[in-house]
Amino acid sequence: MHAYLLPGEDGWTIVDTGIGLPDAKESWRAELERAGGQVARIFVTHFHPDHVGAAADLHELTGAPVYQGTLDYAQCELVWGNPAWPERLIDWFRLHGTPDDVTEELVGQSSVYRPYIRYQPDPILVRAGEWLDGWELVAAAGHADGQLCLLKDGVLLAADHVLERISPTVGLWPASRPDPLGDYLEALDRTVKIEPRIALPGHGELIADPAGRARELQEHHRIRLQEAVAAFGPKPLSGYELSLVLWGDVLKPAARRFAVAESLSHAERLVRVGAAVRHEVDGAVSYTAA
Ligand SMILES: [Zn+2]
Repeated sequence: MHAYLLPGEDGWTIVDTGIGLPDAKESWRAELERAGGQVARIFVTHFHPDHVGAAADLHELTGAPVYQGTLDYAQCELVWGNPAWPERLIDWFRLHGTPDDVTEELVGQSSVYRPYIRYQPDPILVRAGEWLDGWELVAAAGHADGQLCLLKDGVLLAADHVLERISPTVGLWPASRPDPLGDYLEALDRTVKIEPRIALPGHGELIADPAGRARELQEHHRIRLQEAVAAFGPKPLSGYELSLVLWGDVLKPAARRFAVAESLSHAERLVRVGAAVRHEVDGAVSYTAA
């Protein structure tokens, strides 16, 4: 996972913080000594563990204010600041047809990170369209509803919005926006229009042709949507069952968790364009062909 130090007149802007492992503060101290100079501010692109996890450590270390998107911070608190969240996830996977033993594994997996997430309470809340030390904040919903990228002179600091080798996960989660894949395809349209010279991603190598990569990701999801349409027939399929069709039945628990959420984001997109129908009967959600 990449964090970035952006130079500015009043010091560095640190973008993303890494996961809050017990030695996070020490690692950052060493890194910042190497870099030299002051830290003026810390910016969190989105609330996933590897991006927000060490925000409080970095704030303690540097005294610099932490900036985070308004919607993203609300979700951060809802997920990481909420002891009832694992229960809510269990209900969610049940609602979408996941067998109890599988659900237990999935949710147990997602709790592994909780001790290593030290987000900064009461950050300075920002929104798309605002500016941070000469960088424009650009909305990039989909991978996370409230994810914000930074744009300056054709350089897009893309966080997990576009990645070079993998397709960022776009899932439907409890309390997420209703059509994350629709949001994502729109955000990719915006990236194509912006035509950045280069994108600096949250993982993997630099992206030399961000607009081209955005188009590839749109194509990837177009094919996935076709596969999902083909899977739907007259017999109702749950999100869990759809994940078995799209990804097979051999995934590890962590991967299955994302596969179910991603199946749901595709199913909901299809409902919105009239290609599938959603049913909710006796506390179980399923989909059929339209
Ligand atoms: Zn992420």
